[in-house]
Amino acid sequence: MSAKDKPSSTSSAEPSSNGSPGSGRLFVISGPSGVGKGSVIIKLACRSNFHLSVSATTREPRPGEVDGVDYYFLGEDQFREWLDEGRFLEWAEFSTHLYGTPRAAVEEQLGRGIDVVLEIEVKGAMQVKQAMPDAVLIFITPPSIEELEARLAGRGDTADIARRLARAKAELELADQFDSRINNDVLAETVGEVLLLLAPEVPLND
Ligand code: 5GP
Repeated sequence: MSAKDKPSSTSSAEPSSNGSPGSGRLFVISGPSGVGKGSVIIKLACRSNFHLSVSATTREPRPGEVDGVDYYFLGEDQFREWLDEGRFLEWAEFSTHLYGTPRAAVEEQLGRGIDVVLEIEVKGAMQVKQAMPDAVLIFITPPSIEELEARLAGRGDTADIARRLARAKAELELADQFDSRINNDVLAETVGEVLLLLAPEVPLND
């Protein structure tokens, strides 16, 4: 997801309609790289208010990605410093790089009664469930491995498609540990299903 697509985060988010200060809900949207988590979140952001957590990563920015918007792009030493300081709610290695969710922003938003969405890989999602058992874990599945490969290729990740595909197969085996599994075949339908969990008060044909 590039900066131009990124849903606006905290400043425009209102407390959720059924939330009160201190009762924001935490949602984790996970699933294999290339499955379309980012596209789902862009569409969701048009329909519902939430704070989208900005992760830290040691990978290089893709064209159009902006530091502090798409990710905090850190050197490995700095990432490990944050790790040692306990600044991550969860973290994982993915495709030779490190990724982590900064804890402070998540806690601050939840404390203000604002729902928070994390878009992360599967091992990190499992850590969130341990740390915050009330979190709602949503697993997005691809229609097929062939379709996932095509989506990864279309995104220009050619250098590590094979690595990401191998990881995807392992991740799919953990799908049943999630609260919900949603097949991302038709994007609008996927968004509708996630919305039912995130904001059931929003009419589906809105
Ligand atoms: P990408 O390099 O394509 O942006 O992300 C690679 C994978 O890392 C994706 O599956 C993405 O969801 C995941 N990811 C992004 N941020 C985080 C994070 O903070 N923690 C974890 N565990 N995974 C993340």
